[in-house]
Amino acid sequence: MNSEKIKIGVIGVGHLGRWHVQQLKLIPGAELVGFFDSDPLKSTAVQKEFNIKSFSHHAELLEQIDAVSIVTPTTTHFDYAQEAVRAGKHVFIEKPVTETVEQGQKLVEAAEASGVKIQVGHIERFNPAILALEDITLNPLFIESHRMANFNPRGTDVAVVLDLMIHDIDLILSFVRSPVQSIDASGVSILSLKEDIANCRINFENGAVANVTASRISARKMRKMRFFQPNAYISVDFLEGTSEVYELVDPSSAPSAKNLAISFGTIGQGSNSREIRYTRYDKKDINPLHYELSLFINAIRENTRPPVDGEQGVRALKVAKQILEKIEEHAETVKKHWDFNSGS
Ligand code: NAD
Repeated sequence: MNSEKIKIGVIGVGHLGRWHVQQLKLIPGAELVGFFDSDPLKSTAVQKEFNIKSFSHHAELLEQIDAVSIVTPTTTHFDYAQEAVRAGKHVFIEKPVTETVEQGQKLVEAAEASGVKIQVGHIERFNPAILALEDITLNPLFIESHRMANFNPRGTDVAVVLDLMIHDIDLILSFVRSPVQSIDASGVSILSLKEDIANCRINFENGAVANVTASRISARKMRKMRFFQPNAYISVDFLEGTSEVYELVDPSSAPSAKNLAISFGTIGQGSNSREIRYTRYDKKDINPLHYELSLFINAIRENTRPPVDGEQGVRALKVAKQILEKIEEHAETVKKHWDFNSGS
């Protein structure tokens, strides 16, 4: 383990980057050197609030650090990340990793050639509701996912698939661990120029199926994922940070001592009998951003693979792009149908 602190800087201190600054200041293995943002007003505000150096050019910041956190709009991720990687700096990059899959792949190759690490900000991996399931073997055959948000113009420069659904795509790919076989999808733009609501069905080669819905025009917020697998049903509530598991277990096995566990009786006879057990995993006191950034710093200090590396970021982006292609195909069908009905 490298005993030196990792010198790190932030590029982009808007809505999320400001939180990166706040959390990086609190991580013992990191030394926050400063930040760069192209907006002078925002720079002054963040400099004053956190009492850290605002650099007037990103290149000047890069010279003084070992690692950088890129929290700018997605269209700028590739250029900043490529420059940093070529300069031998480790890169934390917000999701989606880059604008295009080709850029993401180029970045992964460049990082390998330079011997630096890339971690992508798929923060839901570190949601307490997901972390609580570390002892559960997730082997889902069917997944139902809903991510419904209120409308906010921020983020509407990209479709809801790239803004919100990509979190669920990343999680699902990490749990199913099988190549995608086919995708069916549809989406509608209502308030913005890009799709504000989308649904897709992802079929995996191993037979698993995921039905995923994301919306940014919902009156009520909801972020849930439900996993169905032989002998277990697992429900994750990302907003609450809690998880519930219903499973068939050996009646002689000890229920969780740390969490609320209730027996709903047994089914079957003799050695075939199984207990229906419910366990509720209450919220762990973890700040997902702090934890995610700490793991990045640890990966650099201990020279290990970051938990969500560049390849995983590209993998999620690739599936998101396939979903967008299917949405376009579906939109063409709808358009033809409407043209036909209107007689034009
Ligand atoms: P934002 O618009 O609030 O902030 C972006 C900041 O970048 C602004 O301060 C802006 O001045 C600055 N900026 C813009 N162009 C720049 C440039 N060329 N060079 C330097 N600075 C520049 O956006 P945000 O919501 O903070 O999103 C930033 C990134 O974080 C996006 O990639 C977004 O997808 C991602 N994001 C991730 C999550 C998550 O859950 N992981 C949540 C929100 C946003």
